[in-house]
This record gives sequence, C-alpha cells and structure tokens, in this order.
Amino acid sequence: MAASRTIFVAGAGIGGLTASLALAARGFRVVVLEKAERLEEIGAGVQLSPNASRVLVALGLQSRLAARAVNADTISLMSVQSNGEVARLPLGQSTAGCDSAPYWVVHRADLQAALQAEVKEHHDIELRLGCQFEDVAAHAKGLTVVQRNGMRRQQDLALALIGADGIWSAVRHHLFPELQPQFSGLIAWRGTLDATQLPREYASRGVQVWMGPNAHLVAYPISGARQINIVAVVPGTWNRPGWSAVGDGNELRSALASPKWPSAARMMITAVDDWRRFALFTVPDSGEWTQGAIALLGDSAHAMLPFAAQGAGMAIEDAAVLARCLAEAQSDGGPAISAALERYARERRPRVARVQRTAKRNGMIYHLSGPAALARDVAIKAIGGSRLVARQAWIYNWRP
Ligand SMILES: Cc1cc2nc3c(=O)[nH]c(=O)nc-3n(C[C@H](O)[C@H](O)[C@H](O)COP(=O)(O)OP(=O)(O)OC[C@H]3O[C@@H](n4cnc5c(N)ncnc54)[C@H](O)[C@@H]3O)c2cc1C
Repeated sequence: MAASRTIFVAGAGIGGLTASLALAARGFRVVVLEKAERLEEIGAGVQLSPNASRVLVALGLQSRLAARAVNADTISLMSVQSNGEVARLPLGQSTAGCDSAPYWVVHRADLQAALQAEVKEHHDIELRLGCQFEDVAAHAKGLTVVQRNGMRRQQDLALALIGADGIWSAVRHHLFPELQPQFSGLIAWRGTLDATQLPREYASRGVQVWMGPNAHLVAYPISGARQINIVAVVPGTWNRPGWSAVGDGNELRSALASPKWPSAARMMITAVDDWRRFALFTVPDSGEWTQGAIALLGDSAHAMLPFAAQGAGMAIEDAAVLARCLAEAQSDGGPAISAALERYARERRPRVARVQRTAKRNGMIYHLSGPAALARDVAIKAIGGSRLVARQAWIYNWRP
C-alpha cells in the first residue's frame, strides 16, 4: 500500500472512528486498526454537549443518532445535604451553544454503531478488526506501521499514525514510555435500569447530578428514554485497569447507605441489578502529544476525570482539529506532516488542560460534606441555573 495520503489510526473507539471520518472528509485515505474482534459498548451512557454533537452533525451522523439519542433539556444539580434540587441548568434553544447543536445523551453502543456504520459506508476508510497496532518506524518515505492479526504480522507504509488507542495506549507507550496513567483514588460504578422501574415523578429527560458527602451520582435517560444510565463515584483503593469488572451492588449500597441520601437516589441504586465498576485513571497534562508524523488523540493523550462529561467530547474535538491541520499541510513530505501535527497539539492542549482542571474541580465540589456542602448549595442557588449554564459557554460554544 502506498504511503501517499494514507493515514493509520490505531483504535476504533469514539475518538478513532470520529478521526477516521474527519480525515476521510478531508480527502485522506484512512486505515483504522482495532484490536477487538468486534466493536462493543464500553460503559453505558455518554453525554455529548453541543461542542461535540456539532462535529458529529457536520460529519453526517444526525440522522443515524437522532432516533436513539435523547435531547437533554436540563441539568439538575441535586444536593444530598440540602435534600433536593439546588439549581436547574436549561439546555434549550436559547442556551449558549445549544442554539445550533443538540445536547445529546446517548447509549455508547448506539454512538459506536452509528460511527461504525458511517465508517463502513465510506470508500476511503478501511476498518481492520482484530488487528492490533504493534510497532512503528520512521524513515525517509514516511512511516512503517507494524500490526498483528492473530498469528499474522503485517506492515504498511503510512503518511502519519494517530494513536487513538485509549488510556492504556500502545502508541503512547512507544513514543513516551515514561508517561503512565495515574490512579485518582476514585472508583466509578455504572449500571442501567428500565425507565419503567422508576415512579413517573423520578423520570426526567434531563441529566441529574446528585452531590453527596464524598460521593456523587449521575443519572440520565438513554436509548430513546427507555433506559436510565446511572454512574456513581466513590473513593476507593481498588485500581485495576479495565472498564467492565463485575461489581457487587451491596458494596455500593453500603458506601451510599447514609439515610441522608434521598429515597430517589437510593431507589435508583437499588433498581440496578448488574453493576460494573472501573477505577478512574488520568493521563497527566504535562505529557507530549506528538513526535514526527505520529500524534496522540483522545484518552491516549489526555484521559481525564469524567466530572465535566467531556472526555469523549474532547476526543471528538481533537479529531476535527487534527483533520483540519493535516489537510492544511503544505505538502505530504515528512516535515510538513510533523509541523501540521505540532500545530494540532499546540491548538488543542490549552483547551484540553482547562477542561481537565474543570473536571477535577467539579469532582471536589460535588464531594463536599458538612458546612462546606451547605455553603456550596447556597452559592449555587444564588448564581442560579441560567448563569451556571452561561459559565459553560466556553465549552459548549466551541467550533472546529
Ligand atoms: C464513568 C465515565 C463517564 C464518562 N462520561 C462521559 C460523558 O458523559 N461525556 C464525555 O464526553 N465523555 C465521558 N467519558 C469519557 C469517555 O468515555 C472517554 O474519554 C472516551 O471514550 C475516549 O475515547 P477514545 O477513543 O480516546 O478511547 P477509547 O474509547 O478507550 O477507545 C480506544 C480503542 O482503542 C483500541 N485499542 C487499544 N489498544 C489498541 C492497539 N494496540 N491496537 C489497536 N486498537 C487498540 C481499544 O480496543 C478501543 O476500542 C466518561 C468516562 C467515564 C470513565
């Protein structure tokens, strides 16, 4: 295969699939390597705020997603300390950023399926399932990308390689082996329940964030509002990699056993019968993202705490900027490609670092207890939902 205009993407997650579509839309040929034999849902739900949905709409995914995604109309901040809602952030048409793109909440399987279907229909994208990125060498003609498919080893020439292979990235390890994900001391528990399992008054088309002492809970509808996605975050020491370890619901129930947790929150926790847990790791924001014609994207570059609901959003934004920078390269020569990737990293890093800091701060605010939690609730009430959502405009208003 000729290197000319062919870009290899390692990883067919949300970031890798979006990048392949964005690159193909800019006239590149793309080969996506995915080590899994089948693309499966990892985690249950994902929030796609307008900065991310805008990119997906521009790539033609609206019709594939509209039927399955729910347009969230509000984010409710609920306080265990104050025993109820302290602010409701409107996400409707008049909200900054939400005027031209939806705030979607969607099952990851639906998002993955929509992206994959779009990729499969594109003549310039080849998706190689069961094919793992193994090694890469740079030379005068570009890159040689080495892959393994079972017992078979294969190598191809490429103009560039994009490491979209997630938090435990092999591409990042190849470039910067000293850069290791760090355990945050927090464990996320996730599960889904049938919307009909909850009394009508608890059902909502919005996102609910329950802030409690040393823990928080996020709930929102997915799958055309037939299911509710629940994520609970608590401190812990269990820190194995992976997304889908089976969790014992009793452990979570005892972590949130305080009678202060309102019955609505406890009812949701009790109603889930298949809990999965995963330790939350982050990639430090001090690391490099590029080397020559190789760049990192999404969690491989900047896995963050999920408390700004922007990890996938930042991967999607990365994809759009990366494709633009590569399309603007003056030539297909090595120096021009390296310069384009450096431009991509320069443009993205300050914004992503700000989002990473915001996510960390949100987590600390959510987990306050005692008088500090009461002071938080008073401050949130005083600011009010409309002004709180206006403060998010720098995230939601982003355009590629
Ligand atoms: C609890 C929780 C809730 C979240 N909620 C939100 C949210 O509401 N909104 C939001 O925007 N984000 C959210 N996120 C973050 C979001 O899920 C991630 O940031 C996003 O999925 C990262 O996408 P990615 O493509 O970079 O990596 P991944 O989705 O991890 O994809 C990496 C892919 O690479 C493949 N791979 C790995 N190694 C290789 C290899 N050597 N060769 C080939 N393929 C390989 C993997 O199999 C995988 O398919 C949440 C995260 C958590 C933990």
